[in-house]
Amino acid sequence: RLEVRHLTRRFAAQAVVDDISFEIPAGQVTCLLGPSGCGKSTTLRMIAGVDVQDAGEIHVDGTLICGPGLTVPPEQRAIGLMFQDFALFPHLTVAENVAFGLSGTAREKNARVAELLERVHLSRHRGSYPHALSGGEQQRVALARALAPRPRILLMDEPFSGLDERLRDDIRDETLALLKEEGTAVLLVTHEPHEAMRMADEILLMRAGSIVQRGAPYNLYNAPVDRRAAAFFSDLN
Ligand code: ATP
Ligand code: MG
Repeated sequence: RLEVRHLTRRFAAQAVVDDISFEIPAGQVTCLLGPSGCGKSTTLRMIAGVDVQDAGEIHVDGTLICGPGLTVPPEQRAIGLMFQDFALFPHLTVAENVAFGLSGTAREKNARVAELLERVHLSRHRGSYPHALSGGEQQRVALARALAPRPRILLMDEPFSGLDERLRDDIRDETLALLKEEGTAVLLVTHEPHEAMRMADEILLMRAGSIVQRGAPYNLYNAPVDRRAAAFFSDLN
């Protein structure tokens, strides 16, 4: 469970993220949706712990991970990351990539890697190197790697943007099924309304650093908060 309270980030006195608050329960996929430059990635970076907020606080499962005078380092946050360029380690095999963030005995690690590779249909590629995989296959390895240590929260920043348009919906559906099975709370950043409609339990519509509307996808689609929001959703097909 992720709780974000009054989170704010300023660059040169300009609030790029301006007092936003939201919660994501375990097992829920929330999409942060908005146009380029509205502050989506900046929000994710603060939650990941690679940028520091100017105000506000963040809790994971009730534990404060950053707030006034407190910053838990990124690697201690139980937060998984899957960003735009989901670069796999080129010198490691598929199985080694998935095992990378795991602790425990070799047997436990092997079991978890096997389980996830089975789930993303890549068991027969376990010994392959990333360059020998298609873009969609690499994306699935990246997903398996992000989920392997069982993060409480998974942050995804435009994870499908590098993929062929024809592949995207299938991979979105597969990804969603795996996320639901794992029960992870997910914050997925996208500027594509179609992606948010397809994947989100809840959408946070962001504009110029603020959340201007939130709710179930059909609510935002049927009752957009204003004309700009309506226009944003209108080119859905
Ligand atoms: P996109 O959809 O294009 O990825 P975004 O919503 O993720 O956009 P952010 O990357 O969060 O947007 O950036 C929001 C604003 O903050 C932009 O105007 C950007 O130029 C500015 N910004 C981000 N990081 C910095 C920084 N380190 N210094 C100054 N300005 C920054
Ligand atoms: Mg961004």
